[in-house]
Amino acid sequence: MLNTYPFLLDKLPYPYDVLEPAIDKATLEIHHDKHHLTYINNLNKALEENIYLQPMVLEELLDSDIPMIKNNAGGVWNHDFFWMGMIGSGRGMEDTLRVEIERNFGSVEEFTKIFEATALGRFGSGWAWLVQNSNGGLEVMSTANQDNPLSLGFTPLLALDVWEHSYYLKYQNRRVDYVKAWWGIVNWEAVESLMK
Ligand code: MN
Repeated sequence: MLNTYPFLLDKLPYPYDVLEPAIDKATLEIHHDKHHLTYINNLNKALEENIYLQPMVLEELLDSDIPMIKNNAGGVWNHDFFWMGMIGSGRGMEDTLRVEIERNFGSVEEFTKIFEATALGRFGSGWAWLVQNSNGGLEVMSTANQDNPLSLGFTPLLALDVWEHSYYLKYQNRRVDYVKAWWGIVNWEAVESLMK
């Protein structure tokens, strides 16, 4: 996508029904066509009123001290990233990533447990992330609302949206079922390509 104002909604990199049954078509349509678009429209609107910020790239806008710009820039970046981290028929993780995960978390099972606990422990709206720290180590973290690990000095590798809008239609209050089903549509190839 274009990385400066005016921001545009990219098409999803796959058909709306390809992530089923983990994420159903109706949820994905609303999530992308309505929620993601709203972040883009609100960011453009805020930038219309702050002309001097228009040359800034999206990553710079994540750290804006204007809440309307910071929050909506996060909404745009996070959703673009979320879509890329999923795939309809992906493969499992390759050895390079598996070894790194084992080195940092002990085992894939332990990593899975920590990530799930982080996603379920996020009170209210936000995200769970697998990130790389400045030493190259892997960490799991959570951010509130549309905050982004880049602002904290981490490189995002994988994101899970745990706002209710990402699962409520199918799972209602069962965030745990959504999180567990989501593992089946993770695009590990994309995660591996982001590792430094
Ligand atoms: Mn969302």
